[in-house]
Amino acid sequence: MKNKRALTLKHRQAISRALRGRPLSEETKKKMGEAKKGIPKTQEHRNKIRLTLLGRKNPAHAERMRGRKQSLETKRKRSVTLKRIGAGLWNRGRTLSEEQKKKISQAVKGKNLGRKFTKEHRKKLSERKKLLLSDPTRHPQWRGGITTYQRKLYLNLKRRSLKLGAQGTHTQSEWEALKRDCTYQCMKCKRKEPLIILTEDHIVPLTKGGNDSITNIQPLCRGCNSRKHTSIIKYDLAVK
Ligand SMILES: [Zn+2]
Repeated sequence: MKNKRALTLKHRQAISRALRGRPLSEETKKKMGEAKKGIPKTQEHRNKIRLTLLGRKNPAHAERMRGRKQSLETKRKRSVTLKRIGAGLWNRGRTLSEEQKKKISQAVKGKNLGRKFTKEHRKKLSERKKLLLSDPTRHPQWRGGITTYQRKLYLNLKRRSLKLGAQGTHTQSEWEALKRDCTYQCMKCKRKEPLIILTEDHIVPLTKGGNDSITNIQPLCRGCNSRKHTSIIKYDLAVK
């Protein structure tokens, strides 16, 4: 009888992955050498392999089954089991009861959707949703009406000011308040949001030693901001 068992490519790769770089004991090395030379394995070793192949956790059960004659039917079943364990698929070739099949088919079709909650719980959920829609400030993710985009703009600037080592600091709500005071218009071209997007302009640029406090900030649209570049200009809040 041959000791060598044909292994699938996948199996061989898995073994080599598992063994790579692993320090081996002298005993293991000896065993591996013997296996290569075709020296038969000990009974104990063979039992161990058998148990592994069967995927059984219970050695007592395997012991009971040892040497027992099997019907053709059982042998066929066992061969199917071995094949599916060998391929690493625990559920390959498994037969399902009609009930199980029905359950799976229903789940696949999505027929179980919306059946998880009791009527009361669903009522509670719907009420909570209504409340959130009527008052968004109660939503756990409410950030004071500041959009992610505005938040990003603010944070980008803050990062830049930190990098330049500027003195002073201002909060996002201070910036929002300043925009509100300036009636959401660009201080230079007087166009308003949302036609344009207001950006924070440092009256004295950070690169010229300006600080990052709110008194050194004025709202400008992008175009005006980039045209101003590094010059020091304070636009007045002109009333038209
Ligand atoms: Zn402008």
